Amino acid sequence: MEGAGVRLKRAFGDVHKKLDPFLLLDDFGSDNPDDYLAGFPWHPHRGIETITYMLSGRVKHEDSLGNAGIIETGDVQWMTAGSGIVHQEMPERFEGLMSGFQLWANLPSSHKMMDPRYRDIKKEDIPVVTVNENIEVKIICGEVEGVKGPVQDIITDPEYLDVTIKANSTFTHPIAKGKNAFAYIMEGEGLFSPKNPKIFSKDQLIVFDDGDVVEILTSDSKLRFLLISGKPIGEPVAWGGSIVMNTDEEIRTAFAEYRNGTFLKHKQKGE
Ligand code: FE
Repeated sequence: MEGAGVRLKRAFGDVHKKLDPFLLLDDFGSDNPDDYLAGFPWHPHRGIETITYMLSGRVKHEDSLGNAGIIETGDVQWMTAGSGIVHQEMPERFEGLMSGFQLWANLPSSHKMMDPRYRDIKKEDIPVVTVNENIEVKIICGEVEGVKGPVQDIITDPEYLDVTIKANSTFTHPIAKGKNAFAYIMEGEGLFSPKNPKIFSKDQLIVFDDGDVVEILTSDSKLRFLLISGKPIGEPVAWGGSIVMNTDEEIRTAFAEYRNGTFLKHKQKGE
């Protein structure tokens, strides 16, 4: 349970050397509005980026920068909290399955207090590359076959792909040297190589080694998964709920500022 009572699956949510710079991946999916309507009312973030990808459904958001809107089926919201943002994320009642992901990417100490920014990426702006008749890749961030995704200039230089492979096919993709990478399966199953060839299926997380060439084979079923990589930061992590800094002192300062009304460093509307 997270937020005001949202039921979700947490693929990971801890500091792990091989997942650095990523801190958390939540998989929310339910056809029962009681599981999600409570949403994530006003809360602060500092020191991280949050990336929300809606597979289906509608989430209404508002933040202290003055942004407000709805993230709909296929859309992505990439929010850099930097020095601090206060926002709310409230799923709306939706017919059928409401599902999506929220990923947290850490920021290095040099950028933890950067100005916050926010990008709303519409489904239409996410290129879909057909690698061959069996493989389709939605590029949210990164580059495949010379096509670049709409999210650029992100501090940890991530790649964020939504890959679908038909049955009886092979997909290969290099992981850039020096980057950490993982896959999370949304649908179907596949054989992941090369180190320990093994079949993985829905809701499983596969963590790759540096410099791996990802090779995935499908047999009878199709496979859809997220493939995400980024540059590790390698700094100490102090984690206080929705705020992630380098030291406990910085966490205490952040919460003290939140309580006394000095948390937001960005300009307020009308300032
Ligand atoms: Fe949030």
